[in-house]
Amino acid sequence: MRALKAHPIDRERNATPTSLYVHIPFCKSRCFYCDFNTYVAPERVMENYVESLDREFSLLGANATSPLETVFFGGGTPTLPPPALLERMLESMHAHFRFAPEAEVTFESNPDSVDDDKLKLLKDHGVTRLSFGAQTFQDRLLLTIGRSHDAQTVVERVEAAAKLGFRHINVDLMFGLPEQSLDDVDDALARVLSLPIDHVSAYWLKIEEGTPFAKWRDKGQLPLPGEDLEGDMYDKVRERLISAGLRHYEISNFAKSGGEARHNLVYWRNQPYLAAGAGAHGYVNGTRYENVRRIPAYMEKLTQAKRPIDEEHTVSHMEAAEDAMMLGLRLDEGVSQKAFEARFGVKIHDLYGELVTDLERDGLVEVDGDRIRIPSRYWPVANVIFEKFVTANPVD
Ligand code: SF4
Repeated sequence: MRALKAHPIDRERNATPTSLYVHIPFCKSRCFYCDFNTYVAPERVMENYVESLDREFSLLGANATSPLETVFFGGGTPTLPPPALLERMLESMHAHFRFAPEAEVTFESNPDSVDDDKLKLLKDHGVTRLSFGAQTFQDRLLLTIGRSHDAQTVVERVEAAAKLGFRHINVDLMFGLPEQSLDDVDDALARVLSLPIDHVSAYWLKIEEGTPFAKWRDKGQLPLPGEDLEGDMYDKVRERLISAGLRHYEISNFAKSGGEARHNLVYWRNQPYLAAGAGAHGYVNGTRYENVRRIPAYMEKLTQAKRPIDEEHTVSHMEAAEDAMMLGLRLDEGVSQKAFEARFGVKIHDLYGELVTDLERDGLVEVDGDRIRIPSRYWPVANVIFEKFVTANPVD
């Protein structure tokens, strides 16, 4: 257990949230690796859910004192509901919140859930950024992981979105998939780089308990590539995307200049955000909250005009400082020592004592003027470094 030399105070605790996450918990089918809060549901349920979201937007919007800078519709598959429901949802959002000029509004989308009409509708209702779940460009691998689309549909939808005027488009990729080879990753990168995108998120497959993948792994039926090959895949992803001019600005994220995901930067900078939707997580006034996960219970609360909060946790000042370090070290910009001191009233070195000095001596963090960061060669093992910033005895 580390001895604390100082106690932080979070001066940004009561900062006004200017970001909103909206959870749309519906998918056409379940991917074999997925443990997200999402359901295969009939249109009637989606319709009732959009009604409930309108009520929740109304409750949140009534207390929102600042215009929103970023909104992120995630899921699930936010583009799955039919056009009339998407329109109702977006109109409701605009009715209950004010928006800053140039606000970023992102919609996650699965390629087979969005046609030209839906894309146009999103554009006409202020959506500025799309994030397509491609995962891989090999049809055999898409089948292996239980995706409902093929590679050609990804290409067609991304090109259609660009044609309709979307300037910010992300594609999600996954590596470490069963039976995936280095050539498969290389091919996926080549395909992505031929598309009109300005952002790529590339995630390692993580086997979550309770998923079909976890069951097959336990039975020895999941031929995963193994750590060495997965490491080579991560290197390949970095090498190709960086040499194509994208900046590796977060452990799993790459962007062309100006294409950084502003909403996700709010999370990584440990800033507050509102959340709406079943199972959505928010962070407001130093409290992290989680909405009720099950759709009927979520809707029931809103029918009674109550916030659908299931759990709340008041974040201690020490935890907030730890989060600021662990989240900030995910970024290539690292953590600003001045900003940390201004926010927590204590210098990073005074709070963490020898830890930073030791990590610096071992080359696991580097101090570059005002910034402390993890050198990108250690990003694959960043979790081990983050853990060192968690104290066993949080103090307020
Ligand atoms: S589309 Fe996304 S949210 Fe839906 S089941 Fe697949 S991984 Fe999960």
